Amino acid sequence: HRDSCASDSSDSVISTGSETDQVYKVVLLGEHGVGKSSLARVFGGVEDGRNTYDRSIIVDEEEASILLYDVWEQDNNQWMKEQCMKMGDAYIIVYSVTDKSSFEKASELRIQLRRARQSENIPIILVGNKSDLVRSREVSVDEGSACAVVFDCKFIETSASLHHNVQALFEGIVRQIRLRKDSKEE
Ligand code: GDP
Ligand code: MG
Repeated sequence: HRDSCASDSSDSVISTGSETDQVYKVVLLGEHGVGKSSLARVFGGVEDGRNTYDRSIIVDEEEASILLYDVWEQDNNQWMKEQCMKMGDAYIIVYSVTDKSSFEKASELRIQLRRARQSENIPIILVGNKSDLVRSREVSVDEGSACAVVFDCKFIETSASLHHNVQALFEGIVRQIRLRKDSKEE
């Protein structure tokens, strides 16, 4: 059994990795209201009471353990935001397709992340959530994917409400992490 604790110091979020060799720390970023917590709940797993979800998924016939952090807005303090930028093995930057300003914010976050983790090639997936709300859409699929090209990250549209593409999102994150890890080891 492993302990996950995001309270005192996020640097102490260490995985002992008993059953699998590694636990991937995945951090949700994005403006308030875009659906981060909804995506986290659909992803599921054991929630530790501190907005951290612990779950294993099988991707390409191999198990992966994910610790998903929905703490970006927690206490709304700067310290937490800095920790978030430091601690992830991978990032999910969420915007709402119904909210242009959340899309612009996503680009800002990508830039901040690049600055915080300069030399590292961390996996990032840009997520356009609320794809079910077709009539109030403000950001097209093309705009989303073009942005992902510019910012050198993967892109997917999801609907947390309809559970659409949420599984694909987390499988994608695991594949990205594995890819980068393998290329590092070579
Ligand atoms: P957060 O602030 O980023 O954690 O966003 P929440 O997960 O709290 O979601 C904000 C609001 O958007 C809530 O009312 C959700 O029910 C709603 N919401 C989240 N995801 C979706 C979605 O995919 N489709 C629709 N229609 N509503 C969503
Ligand atoms: Mg939330």
